[in-house]
Amino acid sequence: MQLSVFDHAIQLIRDSRHMIAVTGAGISVDSGIPAFRGDTGLWNTYDPSVYASIEGFRENPRRSWEFFLELYDQLIDARPNAAHTILAEWEQKGLLQGIITQNIDDLHQQAGSHHVIEVHGSLRNLICTTCGQIIHSRGMIFDSVDLPPMCRCGGILKPEAVLFGESIPSTWYFACLEAIRKADTILFIGTSGIVHPVNEFPEIALRHGCRLIEINPDATVLTRLYDMIHLQGFANDVLTRLAEAFNEQ
Ligand code: NAD
Ligand code: ZN
Repeated sequence: MQLSVFDHAIQLIRDSRHMIAVTGAGISVDSGIPAFRGDTGLWNTYDPSVYASIEGFRENPRRSWEFFLELYDQLIDARPNAAHTILAEWEQKGLLQGIITQNIDDLHQQAGSHHVIEVHGSLRNLICTTCGQIIHSRGMIFDSVDLPPMCRCGGILKPEAVLFGESIPSTWYFACLEAIRKADTILFIGTSGIVHPVNEFPEIALRHGCRLIEINPDATVLTRLYDMIHLQGFANDVLTRLAEAFNEQ
């Protein structure tokens, strides 16, 4: 009997010994945070090369902070959705060994996941561009009159997130490579797969025989280029279906 795509994915997950998830903006869409690309994305309003690049930030930090404030505003009411919660439960049950996320929204941690590599950093912390001090952003009230926020040393603060033109800190990058090398199954959830370094991961993973499963309502570059199972749908719907299938067994 031929297995459906869904049953095939279930079988791979059941057979996996070291499964990880690579998540992108799509997993947080149902938490009310739109992806940057697409009709409702912030790139329609803010040119990323101006507002979200390190050159743009150095040239005019106040202008970039107007964009960052929009992001902080989006996060205030955002809560983890079923997809974040299921991944956290799978970690607890030993079914999932960790998550590499491109998201900067902290929702995996809020859902209870512990092994999370934030490859593009997060908005949780601010870093001083002069002395390097890291400051927790929780409870900080950003006053749009007083932008950009300043460190005690007089330096300008920036979210500890990777801007365009900035390199990913090597410790974060190498942590990703190690996680990919150890994995025998990877779930790519809600990512277009075009942003560095996630665009490198499938090739690295396939070299050691890792199985790839994608969860996304649309076909992506990953679907087109690589041998992977595509589960078409929204992250919370597909993960809920998968979790139910496991609970029934
Ligand atoms: P992307 O915007 O390039 O792609 C998002 C993907 O999610 C698309 O392929 C889309 O089809 C899919 N998608 C949309 N709704 C979905 C849903 N409900 N369930 C599953 N998939 C869905 O995002 P990316 O690949 O993560 O890369 C963009 C960059 O933007 C990353 O660096 C990321 O850090 C950043 N970003 C982060 C957030 C966040 O932290 N929540 C939000 C926007 C952008
Ligand atoms: Zn400082």
